[in-house]
Amino acid sequence: MVIKKRFLLRDGVGGLAPYKIEDHPCAIKLDANESPFSIDWTKWPDVLDGLRKIDLNRYPDPSAGKIRSVLSDYMRWPVEKIVLGNGSDELIQYILMAFGGFNRPVYAPHPGFAMYRIISIAMGQEFRSITLEDGFELPSNKEFLEELSDVRQKIVFIASPNNPTGNCFDRERILSVIKHTNGLVCIDEAYHDFDEGIGFLDILPEFKNLVILRTLSKIGMAGLRVGILLANDYVISAISKVRLPYNLNAISQFLALAVLNHKDIILDMNQTIKKNRVWLAEKMQRIKGIKIFPSQANFILFTSEFCVEAIYKELLSEGVLIKVFPPDGKWPGFLRVTVGTEDECKIFIHMLEKVLYGLEKLLSGKVKENA
Ligand code: PMP
Repeated sequence: MVIKKRFLLRDGVGGLAPYKIEDHPCAIKLDANESPFSIDWTKWPDVLDGLRKIDLNRYPDPSAGKIRSVLSDYMRWPVEKIVLGNGSDELIQYILMAFGGFNRPVYAPHPGFAMYRIISIAMGQEFRSITLEDGFELPSNKEFLEELSDVRQKIVFIASPNNPTGNCFDRERILSVIKHTNGLVCIDEAYHDFDEGIGFLDILPEFKNLVILRTLSKIGMAGLRVGILLANDYVISAISKVRLPYNLNAISQFLALAVLNHKDIILDMNQTIKKNRVWLAEKMQRIKGIKIFPSQANFILFTSEFCVEAIYKELLSEGVLIKVFPPDGKWPGFLRVTVGTEDECKIFIHMLEKVLYGLEKLLSGKVKENA
């Protein structure tokens, strides 16, 4: 019998695990920072009609020109300086393809969005965590800034609002990172629609080493996979060299355009999410046994005096799926709940109170037993 040779993996890939998406049957899904509002297409017969007319035998518009043009008006940024990706995940990969390489470390905050690290390692890049200060703030000390400015070219990813912590970083500290970094700085504004700040688009013309990422995923279109990259000519031209042709499929292009042409619907949904976030935070604040962190995103991070994994499992058994982050280094365990509809938020609060009450009873029973 011939034993087939196993091929060697690229450095780093062997140590990675496939990205785990929780797929539990659950009544309420609040784990992935998606919008809870789904568009009722039956109310848009012209869109359904248009869908039928798409020539699926043809490749889509390679530059996704129509959506880029609507986005350009929407964001007031030149259309030729916008590149779209199959989700911003793909754009993160393109940034690394175009600007990464040997001895060019990638930096991103910890706690932070996992894909910066995963994509870096998958591509054989050195990855370095930026340990956030207490209060989840970016460091601003001399050593950190000197490290960013040393001779090695680097790529720094900063999501603001940050996932999973939910806070926007101090603007001056971000500016300091942009000014000191010898290399590219990518400000990921995936959750910008829910924050109260102005974002960083206003300073983009000034900084040739700055890239801004946005996405349609958090404003009701996660299923379409449309990520947005905004930058100056040099970066755009580099990204265009590595972008795959036809990376945005015809259905996504068509439907994203249909939704984007109804800006009022998106703005309404975002307002409701912000309103629900305030309600959710107020309720959570009053619950004994947990501590929540202020959020400017469409989710809320919290920690607990009880084991976070136990809370996660108990909630799941009640049909509520959220996201758990086990303790890691200097950080305790965290839980992250996406802001849902009003009803979903109410059910979540009810279930969380029930689960914490159960855990407290269990624990006090055990204390008595041991006494
Ligand atoms: N950036 C951040 C900070 C995120 O949290 C996410 C998704 N969770 C993404 C990017 C990826 O978004 P997309 O769906 O556009 O790939």
